[in-house]
Amino acid sequence: MKVKSVSISEWLEKADDFLEKRQVPETRANAEFLLAEVLGVGRSQMVLSGDRELSWKQGSHFWEMVKARGKRLPLAYVIGYQPFCGLDVKVTPSVLVPRPETEGLVEEAVKVAESKYPLSANLHILDVGTGSGCIALALAKKLSKAMLYATDLSDSALKLAEENAVKLGLIQRIRFLREDLFKPSAGGAPWADIVVSNPPYIPTGEIDNLSPEVHQEPFMALDGGESGMEAIKAIAADAPRVLKPGGYLLMEFMMGQGVEVKRQLDHLGFSEIRLEKDLQGVERIVVARR
Ligand code: GLN
Repeated sequence: MKVKSVSISEWLEKADDFLEKRQVPETRANAEFLLAEVLGVGRSQMVLSGDRELSWKQGSHFWEMVKARGKRLPLAYVIGYQPFCGLDVKVTPSVLVPRPETEGLVEEAVKVAESKYPLSANLHILDVGTGSGCIALALAKKLSKAMLYATDLSDSALKLAEENAVKLGLIQRIRFLREDLFKPSAGGAPWADIVVSNPPYIPTGEIDNLSPEVHQEPFMALDGGESGMEAIKAIAADAPRVLKPGGYLLMEFMMGQGVEVKRQLDHLGFSEIRLEKDLQGVERIVVARR
């Protein structure tokens, strides 16, 4: 008996329905991303070839991924990577999925590096709480002379970040260190020209209200303590231990935290403090000079 073959369009519809029932947001786009992944093509190409059929193997791979997405696993974990600043960054549930806002943080850091240190051959940049490594990776890629140091508390995150650096050919210029924020194991004079961080900044009490997808991300990567500002304050307070006088600190923060972030940095003696907006026009990034 010949099994009825199923076209791409039919698979998409089936997936769309399945995801809809599980209240996944943007079901069609999700289904298309997953299918494109199975086919190894771009989404637009795939829609054009809607009459094509999937092999049995492709069909079962597709459906496995649809089921995983139906359990509200973030799309990036299902397909195994997240595009960030033009790089495909491998991600697993051990690390936060890189967000578009964070690309803005990278852009600001690049601007600071290029405008303040145009001739510096060996700029030293520290990325605190590197997670997947996305910020350090993007900076190493964009600033070909910079040397990056990336810290995290999670061994599985560091392992993954290192794997990313190897795969992207950037490992020569990134050192990964297991550190709790700054608390440097060795003392010594400040050595970093720039410190960047996308710290956990969600107030503990607000985490419960976030989407099921966010709940599958590491709690440690999200939780900013009762006020949401604990990691931000700790990083800012510790920064002078590693950041050279005159060096720059850049951090991402949550919508609504700008005034408080600025106040804290001011209080700690930082100067030239400015807040930058994200693509939605919301203040999301602080740049300050030690
Ligand atoms: N630096 C990583 C990122 O920006 C991880 C950040 C975090 O875990 N809070 O995605």
